[in-house]
Formats: sequence, structure tokens, C-alpha cells
Amino acid sequence: MRQIYVSRVPISFVACRAASVLGLAPNMPMTKSIAVANQKGGVGKTTTAVNLAAIIANWGNRVLLVDADPQGNATSGTGIQRGSFRRNLYHSIVLDEPLSAITVHSAIPTLDVVPSNKDLAGAEIELVDVEQREFRLKRALSTVEADYDYVIIDCPPSLGLLTLNALTAARSLLVPIQCEYYALEGVTELFDTLARIRRLHNPGLMIEGLLLTMYDERTNLSAAVAADLRDFYGLQVFQTVIPRNVRLAEAPSYGKPIISYDAHSKGAEAYSQLAREIIHEQKSAGSRAGGSSIV
Ligand code: ATP
Ligand code: MG
Repeated sequence: MRQIYVSRVPISFVACRAASVLGLAPNMPMTKSIAVANQKGGVGKTTTAVNLAAIIANWGNRVLLVDADPQGNATSGTGIQRGSFRRNLYHSIVLDEPLSAITVHSAIPTLDVVPSNKDLAGAEIELVDVEQREFRLKRALSTVEADYDYVIIDCPPSLGLLTLNALTAARSLLVPIQCEYYALEGVTELFDTLARIRRLHNPGLMIEGLLLTMYDERTNLSAAVAADLRDFYGLQVFQTVIPRNVRLAEAPSYGKPIISYDAHSKGAEAYSQLAREIIHEQKSAGSRAGGSSIV
């Protein structure tokens, strides 16, 4: 078997450790809430959250996209202008304002967005002494969840309180993994965190799947990373692979998800295929994540 090295440890070691804390994903009723997380920066979390939310909404589902990152990229990526909202996620999870008063509509009729901006960075500090601080987002979402078929949460690149809130609120975790040399760096820590969240706050938290992003078919490295991930994580890895696609990189600067920017691009096709995989999975009782043993 080929061996890719992540930092100084072989990928198999990292993967086995991470795998030991992964669990099964049973069927999911009602609102499906997915946290898109990986504390590694720039791996495609926001691109995935925005485009998945937009495509699922475009098919007629009611979708809420929650921007849980103070960078506010999911907010601007769905065309919500910085000056167009007065309140943001901070006001809900720190100041207890109702989420329904904060939610804004996007250009896609069935896609709503809970915006965020740099205010949200203060939440990490301000909630530090608050009781049940990991449950703030879950509590806020519980008041609006019935209005949506899907809730997609875009997490910041850290394992701080905002990501813990997202993992406590969600039914499943989707982990984008960039096809590159250090692909699995930090994944062990993420899965350790997942195990802790399951133990302490959210026993039902499942793995939606590991998603290979920015796949470059011209490089052997992308193919090798993909093959090794599939060797170790098996069916936990989505069949869909997101290619490196310049249209995906351009779309956010126009404040548009890929289906509005270039519906016929490879990026749009790939995210549509991912959305189909997730929806089909839900209908067929979580067969991918539910039926796989990891190593
Ligand atoms: P952060 O950790 O800072 O929140 P992230 O994990 O959310 O980052 P993105 O912002 O989605 O990552 O992507 C990082 C950069 O890569 C962005 O400029 C984005 O446009 C670009 N990008 C993401 N996916 C692709 C892709 N498949 N093809 C080309 N560019 C991509
Ligand atoms: Mg992001």
C-alpha cells in the first residue's frame, strides 16, 4: 500500500487514530442540520457550505445557511452585503435575540442566511463564563428549525467555541479535505473533538462524510491522497470529488453561489452531485456513513 506522510507521521497512523472515534450514522428525521468543519484553514468549508445550501435550496427545499465564522465569507458569498444587516449571529448566541429577527433572505427564494461579521469573534471570549455555552447555537436554532428542511453551518478554521456550538447543534459533520500533501493534518484532533462532543453534548452527532476538495486530476498527488483516504475511511468518503475549478473561486467575488454564477461549470456539476448524494443518503437511511466500518 502506498504511504503518504502527514507531518512526520504516516497517514495510516493518523487515519487509524481518527477512525477509532468515528461512529455510525443512522437515519435522520425532519430537519437535517450539517456542520461543515475542519480547523485547517482554506480547505473549502465555505465554498462547500454556500454551494450545497444554494443547490439544495434551488431544488425547492427550505434551507438555512448559518455563517458561524467571524470572517463572514458565507454571508458575502451568498450576496448578503456587509451594510445590509444590522444584527448577526453574535446578537443571537451572545445577546439572546431571536434568530428569526436576524435571518435574512438571499436571492434564492428558499435560501435564508444567518449572517455574521467580525462581531462574532467576541462571542468566543464573552461566552467563556456562561453556563451551557456550547448549547447557545442549538438553543437559537431550535426556535426556527421547524421552518427549514436543511440547516447548513459554516464553521471557522478553529476548534474554538463557535465550532463546538456548531457540532453541538448539528446532526452531522461534513469534513472538507483538500487534496494536498498535508491533507489530514488536524483531522485526528477534529475527530477527538467530535468524540468529546458526542460524549458530553450531542450523542447523536454523525459523520455526514469526508469530502475531497480542490482535486486536480493532472497531479499524481491528488490521486494518491484520494486513494489513501478511501483506503482508510472507505464509505465515509463521499463518492463525489470536488475538482479545482476557477469558476468556484470566482463566484464569491460576485456574491453568487456557483449555480447562479455558472450553472454549467464543473464546480456546479460537482456540488450538485454532492447534494444528490446527501439527499439520497438521507432517503436511504444513511447507507454510506451508516454502513461502513472504517479501517
Ligand atoms: P477558512 O478556513 O478561511 O474559512 P475555507 O475552508 O472556508 O477557508 P474556502 O474559503 O471555501 O475555504 O476556500 C479557500 C479558497 O479556495 C477560496 O479562495 C475559494 O474560492 C477557493 N476554492 C475553494 N474550493 C475551490 C475549488 N474547488 N476550486 C478552486 N478554488 C476553490
Ligand atoms: Mg471559510
